Amino acid sequence: MEELQNITPNEEKQVLNFVEQIVADDLAAGKNGGRLNTRFPPEPNGYLHIGHAKAICMDFGVAEKMGGTCNLRFDDTNPQKEDTEYEQAIMRDIHWLGYDWGDRLYYASDYFEKLYEFAIRLIKEGKAYVDDQTSEQIAQQKGTPTQAGTESPYRNRSVEENLDLFQRMNAGEFDEGARVLRAKLDMASSNMHFRDPIIYRIIKTPHWRTGTKWKVYPMYDFAHGQSDYFEGVTHSICTLEFVPHRPLYDHFVRELAGDTVDQYCPRQIEFNRLNLTYTLMSKRKLLQLVKEGLVAGWDDPRMPTLCGLRRRGYTPQSIKNFINAIGYTKYEALNDISLLEHSIREDLNKNANRVSAVINPVKLVITNYPEDKVEMMEMDNNPEQENAGRHQMPFSRELYIEREDFMEDAPKKFFRLTPGKEVRLKGAYIIMCTGCTKDADGNITEIQCTYDPETLSGMPGANRKVKGTLHWVSARHCKSAEVRLYDRLFAVENPSAESEQDFRNLLNPDSLKVLTDVKIEPYLAEVAKVEDKFQFQRIGYFCVDADSTPDRLVFNRTIGLKDSWAKEQKKL
Ligand code: ATP
Ligand code: MG
Repeated sequence: MEELQNITPNEEKQVLNFVEQIVADDLAAGKNGGRLNTRFPPEPNGYLHIGHAKAICMDFGVAEKMGGTCNLRFDDTNPQKEDTEYEQAIMRDIHWLGYDWGDRLYYASDYFEKLYEFAIRLIKEGKAYVDDQTSEQIAQQKGTPTQAGTESPYRNRSVEENLDLFQRMNAGEFDEGARVLRAKLDMASSNMHFRDPIIYRIIKTPHWRTGTKWKVYPMYDFAHGQSDYFEGVTHSICTLEFVPHRPLYDHFVRELAGDTVDQYCPRQIEFNRLNLTYTLMSKRKLLQLVKEGLVAGWDDPRMPTLCGLRRRGYTPQSIKNFINAIGYTKYEALNDISLLEHSIREDLNKNANRVSAVINPVKLVITNYPEDKVEMMEMDNNPEQENAGRHQMPFSRELYIEREDFMEDAPKKFFRLTPGKEVRLKGAYIIMCTGCTKDADGNITEIQCTYDPETLSGMPGANRKVKGTLHWVSARHCKSAEVRLYDRLFAVENPSAESEQDFRNLLNPDSLKVLTDVKIEPYLAEVAKVEDKFQFQRIGYFCVDADSTPDRLVFNRTIGLKDSWAKEQKKL
């Protein structure tokens, strides 16, 4: 666990993960003429999530690291679920992560013609046949891993009849589901994927790129390896669930390449998926949350999508550091979301400027401070950086402090404000609490104090020891802002594992709390632009939301200051 404590960038580290090692060995052996070409193959049927980021960092990362190229290929073989909205969002998110495919943008639909011709070839060679059974009937005949399947009654149709039927399937003569094209392989194979897999099905929905040109669409196993082959992909890196598909991948590539397979042959390599606690990676379920309005959209800051994380305040570097820290293995795992949170906290601690904001304000009046006086206090922008500079913050007789920083009857260990005790106001004076005012219900409406004018930095009393330091803003100068406090999307650690429960019932009911009157210092109101990130002193890290208007800023809480991950690690 030791190496997880510090997840700063390790790009310089020359340790290869197991996929990179395989690639390095292939390159050293001169395979594929010494070329390295990977691809990232998203289906444009949803937005990218942090699991995809793990795949992107691998596909683009290994190419970058070892002098290869990476294609972006949209796996657009199912027109029923796909759309250009998703295509555009996917490209935006890959760019945001810092990767670029250059002129290597491809679509599986570019290969529909070639794939169709390949299918015709297989039919002519007696290696594929049209099956008139329903997909349910076909599934029933599949057998079990220990028991051979049953051959379809249509398996030995003549080549002429198969050609005729397949062409008519594509001409739109038959209903969806009425017929499929199957590869004639081996109904007794120990690999279930070899038991005459379906390679084409009828879909009548127009395709977002090819319109109504095609009525038959290739299945994943008949499209992916071939697309890799057409593009010259050398290493087709994917997740572990594709391990049992690999023999079929190899089989179709060999059928397609024939003897030339010795000069060039794409190779599939699998690594473990990213799974995170308190969230989900299923695009289908994420889409459901969006469609049913259970979140505010794909970019809701609670979503594990890249656009959601961006809106939440995550940086590309923090995501890459996290992915680097968890690494790539051959074993499925559930990663702790607090490690991701630790990663953004580390990044923002280094890079986010410090500002003052009071999220639950109560008025504090300094009774011995002149009514009209205003002093400008100098505040460090970021003590973690040498040249971050300073900014000015007005101090006056009436301030706001956090309600939680005051207690009328405080226990001994309470080192904040309570009558008769002193605290320092951050970057300003030491004050002594003299009392408070309450409304009819006993709620505190105002706190009174006096200040010691000799306690500013550089003055004789500056170094006087007081236990607590509070943040504050000047009541007359501050601006009001909205703050959205986010918590984890799900209330249970592994919502995917609770299969007997509707996942929507597992949502965290307290995942969003909106504060409408947060007091922010004038400097912040002046400089903040959408997507800027700040540390609100003593509170946490916040990111400016796109819902902000010129008059009123809206902030998303990225993450609080307390680092539960670092704490857990210290205990180990
Ligand atoms: P589906 O195929 O069910 O629509 P998917 O999440 O696999 O969903 P794709 O668009 O096919 O979506 O994914 C593109 C690539 O991202 C694939 O190579 C896939 O292996 C990889 N990927 C998807 N989810 C994860 C994950 N959680 N961790 C790592 N890689 C992932
Ligand atoms: Mg997939």
